[in-house]
Amino acid sequence: MSTFHTIGERWKHVEHTVREAALSCGRNPEEITIIAVSKMHPLQSVQQAFEAGARVFGENYAQEFRDKIQEAERTNIHPEWHFIGSLQSNKVKYIIPHASLIHSCSTISVADEIERLSQKHDVITDILIQVNTSGESSKSGIEPAEIDEFISLISRHKHISLRGLMTIPTATDNISQLSSEFSLLRNTLERLKDSIPSPETWNMLSMGMSDDFSIAIKEGATHVRIGTAIFGERAY
Ligand SMILES: *Cc1c(COP(=O)(O)O)cnc(C)c1O
Repeated sequence: MSTFHTIGERWKHVEHTVREAALSCGRNPEEITIIAVSKMHPLQSVQQAFEAGARVFGENYAQEFRDKIQEAERTNIHPEWHFIGSLQSNKVKYIIPHASLIHSCSTISVADEIERLSQKHDVITDILIQVNTSGESSKSGIEPAEIDEFISLISRHKHISLRGLMTIPTATDNISQLSSEFSLLRNTLERLKDSIPSPETWNMLSMGMSDDFSIAIKEGATHVRIGTAIFGERAY
């Protein structure tokens, strides 16, 4: 995709490609939410994507999340905001009650803090558990073997609603490896249904980014997190 395209054009292109990917494997495109990942991009870029039709945005860094939302509140755009980045318990205060979905919960201390602050703000916060599906090669997320215990520990939290699982796969372009990591996440979601307090709302699979979202959709993704393909390269 050429850098000469505008953000609005890129959004439309991504929306179209997601739709095609869903239809090509017999899925309803309406089942898939595109999260426009706006980390490291200014609010102006968010506004451009919003004008083209994007409604859900994802941020990775807690302070940037807070600052961008405060800035957005002074404009006439009111998108839905998701938090997708790795999270420490002392930063949870920046994202609650503003995050309508937290994709990246993987420690008890963060879950406890989400509970404490959600109770304080009198909200119920939807969360996904981030799972390490890549074996040795990545350390982000909880190991599949440890999820059952994690769920039983956080199930007592009344202000947390467990909605599903998220993963960041191995950085590879090996399609069969990516497929097997995504299908591990889907199988784990199904396996855990019986241990969840509200299984009827345990149905979200957040997987797939700019380079691999078509594979993730084929493996059952309900949420794809797309940054570069919409906003271009980030300046680090
Ligand atoms: C940055 C990021 C994305 C978006 O990645 P792109 O390759 O730019 O689409 C998605 N998910 C997470 C957790 C990220 O940190």
